[in-house]
Amino acid sequence: MKGFCENCRDMVDCGEKNVNKEKSIKGKTVRYAGKEAYCEECKEEIFAAEIRDYNLMQLDAAYREAEDLIKVTDIERILERYDIGKRPLSLLLGWGEGTLTRYVDGDTPSKPYSDILKRILVDKAYYRELLELNKKRISEVAYRKSMAAAEKIPETEGNEISKLESAVKYVLMETSEITPLALQKLLYYAQGFKKAFTDTFMFEQDCEAWAHGPVYRDVYHKYRGYGYNPIEEGRLHYGNIHLTDDEEELLDHIILYFGCYSGKVLEHMTHSEEPWRSARRGLADGERSERVIEKQNIDVYFKKVKEKFKMLNFTDIKDYTKDLFCKLYA
Ligand SMILES: [Zn+2]
Repeated sequence: MKGFCENCRDMVDCGEKNVNKEKSIKGKTVRYAGKEAYCEECKEEIFAAEIRDYNLMQLDAAYREAEDLIKVTDIERILERYDIGKRPLSLLLGWGEGTLTRYVDGDTPSKPYSDILKRILVDKAYYRELLELNKKRISEVAYRKSMAAAEKIPETEGNEISKLESAVKYVLMETSEITPLALQKLLYYAQGFKKAFTDTFMFEQDCEAWAHGPVYRDVYHKYRGYGYNPIEEGRLHYGNIHLTDDEEELLDHIILYFGCYSGKVLEHMTHSEEPWRSARRGLADGERSERVIEKQNIDVYFKKVKEKFKMLNFTDIKDYTKDLFCKLYA
């Protein structure tokens, strides 16, 4: 790469190096991994358009990450998944008709708009409702095309996704007041003990080692609006839950032995365990992270638990819970 060095007053060869950069956006400091070009002759920094573009891209990604905003690629996935154009979807949502076009071109969405898009991406029932409710705003053809795509999704989507969705639905139906924080922990324990008892995982998806414990990302986005309040989903019914009898029985026991604790207690429990700890090695308390809790670590840890407590069936899980609670609070 060549560039003009103001210091040498000449076209020179540029080198590039990685630098940590930061920029203040709307009063918040956003840190990102950027680059700088420098003159190979005098080592002074020089301007290069490619580097500027690269840094803008990195900054945009870091800002979206920090604010938890939807990515452009995810917006494109929505359009494809529901077979709808940028303009009709904007109208459907009651937004200005050019809104999604601007987002796809790189404009950053506001937080509320971003949250709606994120939910649409993972929650096809929510989308179908929006579509039905607001069909007058778009053409008959666009409505029918998109509804057909939305209706086709359950058959084309992998089993694994509906396994996680099924477990969520089952837990919500079997509990009366559960917060998103607690729900995530129950899913995590179900995953761990399923593997320990049957040598297969319940969910294909990986969970991530977030500051408040293990998190299944899609589940987080679906229920984030409830914050620390219990999830209230009306109109739940037992249909369309794809779980084996064994899986339901395991979930019953997980709910029984872990579901009695608050989300905060469950958070402390997962924080004391090896899989979450090792995924967060080197991170400060409360630091954001998307690191995956490796399935292998979950496997090793829960098998050890099963051995240590000589568990023969699901009711023995209570020995572990009791022990954990006493260690942390007694
Ligand atoms: Zn120079």
